[in-house]
Amino acid sequence: MKTSRRTFLITSVGVASTFALGSKAAFADAPKVPESDPTAQALGYKEDASKVDKAKFAKYAAGQDCGNCQFYQGKPTDAFAPCPMFSSKLVASKGWCSAYVKKA
Ligand code: SF4
Repeated sequence: MKTSRRTFLITSVGVASTFALGSKAAFADAPKVPESDPTAQALGYKEDASKVDKAKFAKYAAGQDCGNCQFYQGKPTDAFAPCPMFSSKLVASKGWCSAYVKKA
């Protein structure tokens, strides 16, 4: 009896450690924001900032992208990272939307 409880605890610790190590890229499995998403359409989100509808979103300026926006939750080198504007779904580092605010 004691041995199986001990085995269970050791196994549990091992599993917990695995989760802790794997949590580094926790957002990697989050869904990407599709451009067809209603919020994405309202904010003019594009995965490729060069494809932004400049007539509709005149505030867009070349050089602006998610990777240098203050809402981007990843490193600028991460291809995708969560954005709070989209319930922490993933947006592209090279993307853009009209909620853009230059990172200070
Ligand atoms: Fe990208 Fe910033 Fe818009 Fe989020 S708020 S989608 S990081 S431009």
